[in-house]
Amino acid sequence: MTTPLLVPFSHGERGMADLLGGKGANLAEMTRLGLPVPHGFTITTEACREYLRTGHRPEELDGLVRGAVVALERSTGRTFGEGDQPLLVSVRSGARFSMPGMMETVLDVGLTDALAERLAQRQDPRFVWDCYRRLVEMYGRTVLGAPATVFDTMRSEVLAAHDVASAAELDATGLRALVRRYRRALVAETGEDLPQDPWAQLTSSIDAVFSSWNSPRARLYRSHEGIPDTLGTAVTVMQMVYGNTGPHSGSGVCFSRNPATGDAAPYGDYLTDAQGEDVVNGSRATVPLARLADLEPTAHRELLSHLSTLEKHYRDLCDVEFTVEDSRLWMLQTRVGKRSPAAAFVMAADMAEEGLITEDEALVRVDGNQLESLLHARFDVPEGTSPLVTGLPASPGAGAGTAVFDSATAVARRAAGEDVVLFRTETSAEDLPGILAAIAVVTARGGLASHAAVVARGFGRTCVTGVSDLVVDEDAREARTTSGQVVREGDLVSVDGTAGAVYAGALAVRPSPVAGGLPTSDTTSPALSTTGTAPVGDEGAGTTSQATTHDGVVLRAVRRLLAHADQRAAVKVRVNAETAPEAAEARAAGATGIGLCRTEHMLLGERRELVERVVLDSHADDALARIEALALDDFVDLLRAMDGLPVVVRLLDPPLHEFLPDPTDLAVEVARLEATGAVVPDALPSRLEATRRWAEANPMLGLRGVRLLTVHPELVDAHVRALVTAATRLAAEGLDPRPEVMVPLVSDVAELAAAREHILEVAEQTSRDLGSDRPAPRVGVMIELPRAALTADDLAGLAEFFSFGTNDLTQTTWGMSRDDAQASFLTSYATSGLLPEDPFVTLDQRGVGELVRIAVDRGRAARPGLELGVCGEHAGDPASIRFLTGCGVDYVSCSPPRVPVARLEVGRATVLQEGVSASDSR
Ligand code: ADP
Ligand code: MG
Ligand code: MG
Repeated sequence: MTTPLLVPFSHGERGMADLLGGKGANLAEMTRLGLPVPHGFTITTEACREYLRTGHRPEELDGLVRGAVVALERSTGRTFGEGDQPLLVSVRSGARFSMPGMMETVLDVGLTDALAERLAQRQDPRFVWDCYRRLVEMYGRTVLGAPATVFDTMRSEVLAAHDVASAAELDATGLRALVRRYRRALVAETGEDLPQDPWAQLTSSIDAVFSSWNSPRARLYRSHEGIPDTLGTAVTVMQMVYGNTGPHSGSGVCFSRNPATGDAAPYGDYLTDAQGEDVVNGSRATVPLARLADLEPTAHRELLSHLSTLEKHYRDLCDVEFTVEDSRLWMLQTRVGKRSPAAAFVMAADMAEEGLITEDEALVRVDGNQLESLLHARFDVPEGTSPLVTGLPASPGAGAGTAVFDSATAVARRAAGEDVVLFRTETSAEDLPGILAAIAVVTARGGLASHAAVVARGFGRTCVTGVSDLVVDEDAREARTTSGQVVREGDLVSVDGTAGAVYAGALAVRPSPVAGGLPTSDTTSPALSTTGTAPVGDEGAGTTSQATTHDGVVLRAVRRLLAHADQRAAVKVRVNAETAPEAAEARAAGATGIGLCRTEHMLLGERRELVERVVLDSHADDALARIEALALDDFVDLLRAMDGLPVVVRLLDPPLHEFLPDPTDLAVEVARLEATGAVVPDALPSRLEATRRWAEANPMLGLRGVRLLTVHPELVDAHVRALVTAATRLAAEGLDPRPEVMVPLVSDVAELAAAREHILEVAEQTSRDLGSDRPAPRVGVMIELPRAALTADDLAGLAEFFSFGTNDLTQTTWGMSRDDAQASFLTSYATSGLLPEDPFVTLDQRGVGELVRIAVDRGRAARPGLELGVCGEHAGDPASIRFLTGCGVDYVSCSPPRVPVARLEVGRATVLQEGVSASDSR
């Protein structure tokens, strides 16, 4: 059977959206349901594709359209473009995927000079000329391509001449004058006029809708949304109904539930004496849907009943366009409606509760990105406030504070109780204390995976990067915008990391409706928790403000869906954390252990110097002892916070020089002292020499991770001893500490063998010294180099667990440094479309993913039951989580703020893999 070129509403249905477009398919479906839809038909996307291919309408199409219009004439009892009750039609675009405002629609097609004059004699002339001026304007814009400004100018002139504010207030004479002006302008502008043959109007409108598929803005929209250019649009032709006949007519849009809050009551806008676009273009003030109950009670009652029919039928939020013509209701469009993240959760939970959808369906109706956006505070931005500068939304949240321009000032001012915003051109490891002290970070350079972005996300700091219109002058302690504004140290600024905007002054912060409310009562076994039905903290306390009540509703919905996600999840969620408060918070938010404790993070700030001494001084036993003592305290706290749950401690990982002073800085210092004739302290040249010795051309591929054991094993030993001692101490208190040790940056089994032997020896010696018979911690390996993945079978012979470090695995597989790549080529790769997805944000399944699969297969073949985890940024990314779940990992470990997001996504991953059941109820 050949693909049809034209399908009447009575022959179509919802499942035919590929052919009829969303609009056409849903109009057919509403017709099937017996709802009051004006008659019409849809010219299929197949016809459009042929038009786009050949440049003209398919040969048979005109005949089919004529036949269909004749059928319309018969069913409506009217004649197209003729008679006292003429048939006029709308010609509407509608693709498979909704592309709001991207393509064109022409209303009131079929009206001509002769017909308008004749009708104006017989019925309300105002109505007739109103329809005609709409046709001329829409046809002129859409078919003849006249710029909108032409009509705007003409309209303003006529409105002024008649002393009224909007076209709706013009009388018949004014509207008629407007038509004349439009027509003259049209001819002057395009050399063409509105055809006086209704059929010519119809066919050229159809062509125009076809062509609008390839308008620049439609193309741009599609490339953004990933909609294929090959689909084409359908064209729906339907009988006009008139919302502009007078006070008992009007047009409106509505939703079956509130799309902003999720509230289960219908929501919408209505405008009396209006056609189509008037409702949304803001030219006149609309009234809320509820007012329709007074204006047109019958139509209102019917509308509510149809909304309910549609919602039950589609089993989802529906939005609707409708028109009331002389008190009679007509349905003009429906589709599954868009909704805010909060509304998505509230509706999904409510619909599951109502039994409209299953819990599984509810879970897949929301996603991690929506939850993520709910987890952060937002600004209440006053109307008319525009940002100082904008950049990339690198880490979501809303942070207001005083501007500072270096790490030390950030730390000092924070210590004095101030909220600070750190401005840098870009950040490096040295800025870490400053980033931690700041409420928000702004960098002029860098992308979404720059140092600032990654660190800020990891620690839940708000961050905006890549603010190209900003020059940060660290020396002058100020930042200047290209438009000449200056932010000085101490000035108040507000940073919106969700939108990527920086404002002058301190804006009011609206807290997240859910963050802080997620802690579960029984976090040791989240799979069994039933938090969905637990009462919400504040509600019982008599908080009555609207916002708080709604926040409570959102929170309850989130908890319900998270509880279901926990029940369905095949993969556990752990957290990357180094401090006890972080660990405790993450545990309360549902983390089932620490998947990555970065020991180098425990050596930040003032402690950095201890490492420097161990490396540079030959007699630094006191520094080493101090490192061990500090680590012992840290581990005791951490293991206590995660009692009964695994804590994976990764041995020191970064290149050593990150702990050392910058040789260039030292050289400059020496040169400066020499130049001024000052005495150069003895230690300085030797320090300079030592730091030069440690400098590497390519630190990312240099002396780090397991390789450190060859030069400074004592640093590693200190951590192992501290960990074993901490565990022994807690066990003596009757607790159940579960430390594990992970070896980073292994590429060959021999490295792992040596490291493992060393670690076990130190651990056993420590236990002996303590007089304890606790077994040594489990030793596992981090898979973050391609060779480790490829030789996973060898590694699994020794490693008791694997953890995929997908950040470094991505860097080393692609051969791209994440920190350097952002500023330069990776950004242009992204903007030019060469690399549509940032592999540091969403796991590259084809390459890095293949290595993960290989390592899983080979590792498990060598050691059945091998425990597999994932740490790294990707463990918090929804799309990556779905992929990793499919690979068969046991857990993902993400940064603390992302724990709830990951919980939701691992549950969704299972449901999506098994296929959502629509019938199986709770
Ligand atoms: P969009 O996709 O931009 O919403 P539509 O094709 O839905 O464009 O039409 C634009 C406006 O015209 C809508 O408000 C719609 O309800 C109205 N409209 C479309 N067809 C008719 C018709 N046959 N009678 C009355 N109003 C119509
Ligand atoms: Mg519409
Ligand atoms: Mg690494």
